[in-house]
Amino acid sequence: MSAFARSDGVLYAEGVSLAAIAERFGTPCWVYSRHALEAALDEFQGELAGTDALVCYAVKANSNLAVLDVLARRGAGFDIVSGGELKRVLAAGADPRRIVFSGVGKSAGEMGLALRAGILCFNVESAAELDRLDAVAGELGKVAPVSLRVNPDVDARTHPYVSTGLKENKFGVAYEDALPLYRRAARLANLRVSGIDCHIGSQLLDAAPFVEALEKILLLIDRLATEGIALEHIDLGGGLGIRYRDEAPPAVRDYLQPLLAQLRGRKLRVILEPGRRLVGNAGVLLTRVEYLKPGDAKSFAIVDAAMNDLARPALYGSWHEIVPVVPRQGPVRPWEIVGPVCESGDFLGRGRELALAAGDLLAIMSAGAYSMSMSSNYNSRPRAAEVLVDGEHAHLVRRRETVEELYALEERLPCA
Ligand SMILES: *Cc1c(COP(=O)(O)O)cnc(C)c1O
Repeated sequence: MSAFARSDGVLYAEGVSLAAIAERFGTPCWVYSRHALEAALDEFQGELAGTDALVCYAVKANSNLAVLDVLARRGAGFDIVSGGELKRVLAAGADPRRIVFSGVGKSAGEMGLALRAGILCFNVESAAELDRLDAVAGELGKVAPVSLRVNPDVDARTHPYVSTGLKENKFGVAYEDALPLYRRAARLANLRVSGIDCHIGSQLLDAAPFVEALEKILLLIDRLATEGIALEHIDLGGGLGIRYRDEAPPAVRDYLQPLLAQLRGRKLRVILEPGRRLVGNAGVLLTRVEYLKPGDAKSFAIVDAAMNDLARPALYGSWHEIVPVVPRQGPVRPWEIVGPVCESGDFLGRGRELALAAGDLLAIMSAGAYSMSMSSNYNSRPRAAEVLVDGEHAHLVRRRETVEELYALEERLPCA
């Protein structure tokens, strides 16, 4: 069962009509399905059953507390990239021993927070970061568990902005540098070498680069073992793609089975960091048509959501399916679906063949990942409400911001 399906022509999220949600909470509005979140996590956990493995959801994909809560209750751990995300997952009830901390620029303050919380592992991305972490841990009288994010130099064959495993990327340590860095980490008094990690990119549609990366990482693990550096875990990152349009991403099984086969017989705990795959198709953005502006060259449907809400089309040229919540009869024509923001790049979809009238509700599909979490207040637009549907119930899980909240932290200059 898809979480978003039609009943009597009307699009529903589980048991609640999206028209009713728009009526109750207004537009634009994000709508997530608890069932879809759980089903996506279950797919991973089902494949991993019987193995020593931990699925650490990559929080940056969608960091709403209710989303984190749903996943935490089902046994997920979390992959965070900032102190802010750490505070969020702890507020959502996460177990700190199921948190891994990624990112190229961890501050001393963020390291301190994570050390005091007692997280599972720091995914370290440079020599300088190793030294800083050792110093911060020493000051706090703690021992920091570390993994090195190794860049396996494989081509993820995805969008250049979301490809991270090539030599020229800013992420991770170069494959050739990994061995000396592990030797150094093993000598530092306040670090404990715990694992190894890699993350080669996002929205991968082919399992082969993951296998290629794992082969290289295993060579390194064997080399480390000969030097007496034994690792407890291997973290294979995230990156598994989803279907936005007509892509054919691998099933979780087809992605995991070759990896698990390569790992068989090794006493290594497996960590995965999926983001998009868990939440991307569990959310939609609801928007209403404000105006129609038909023209000879192009016809514009101006809607109340914009690039500040959903940046992916403007940022990456991404395609999201856009469908009417209540389909209408009438002539179909290609519409440019655009927002009110003062940028020509402010489009959500181009040349969409739809029958539209002002006031119609549209659902922008596959908007659960890198959507609300990347939204901004550009043009002083309050961020949209977020609603989580659970069966017949729609819960407001983040209320719409007010304009006053947007400038509440600002001050005018003192008089004269
Ligand atoms: C973004 C990110 C992920 C999640 O990527 P997805 O493509 O959403 O699965 C996992 N690990 C790291 C280190 C990341 O930066």
